[in-house]
Amino acid sequence: MLTPKITAIGAGVVGLSALKNLLEAGLNAICLDERDSIGGFWKFTSADQASASLTIKMPPFPTKSQVQDCLEAYAKDFDPLQHIHLSTTAAIIRRNSDDSKWIIAL
Ligand SMILES: Cc1cc2nc3c(=O)[nH]c(=O)nc-3n(C[C@H](O)[C@H](O)[C@H](O)COP(=O)(O)OP(=O)(O)OC[C@H]3O[C@@H](n4cnc5c(N)ncnc54)[C@H](O)[C@@H]3O)c2cc1C
Repeated sequence: MLTPKITAIGAGVVGLSALKNLLEAGLNAICLDERDSIGGFWKFTSADQASASLTIKMPPFPTKSQVQDCLEAYAKDFDPLQHIHLSTTAAIIRRNSDDSKWIIAL
């Protein structure tokens, strides 16, 4: 029997944790992100050093870079990179003609 393929769109906090749980459940899952790296909002993209209030093992007000480092470590922990397609945009998302699955056009 074919295992359904599941696509998490976005490799931010939500997409990464979804991918981890889908893989752990033995499902055939991948993740797409239009950016060239994981981390979503937390990926350091400029000289910006915005702080954030997370309750994981971190300073009370970690910088975006510290949260991004944490996400990179989280991702290494379950080795999802083979399942993540970076620089890949889900351009159109729609139901197929018999409304049985989603079609993602890149
Ligand atoms: C201004 C601002 C400040 C914030 N400050 C805090 C804070 O201090 N503390 C805190 O805990 N949270 C904060 N947040 C909330 C933050 O958004 C969440 O913590 C978390 O990053 C959301 O994760 P996410 O995975 O849902 O989205 P994101 O981290 O935004 O990731 C979404 C990913 O999806 C990708 N994507 C989107 N559309 C497509 C597409 N069509 N195809 C392919 N890829 C796609 C994007 O490239 C991105 O990488 C803040 C948010 C904002 C906007």
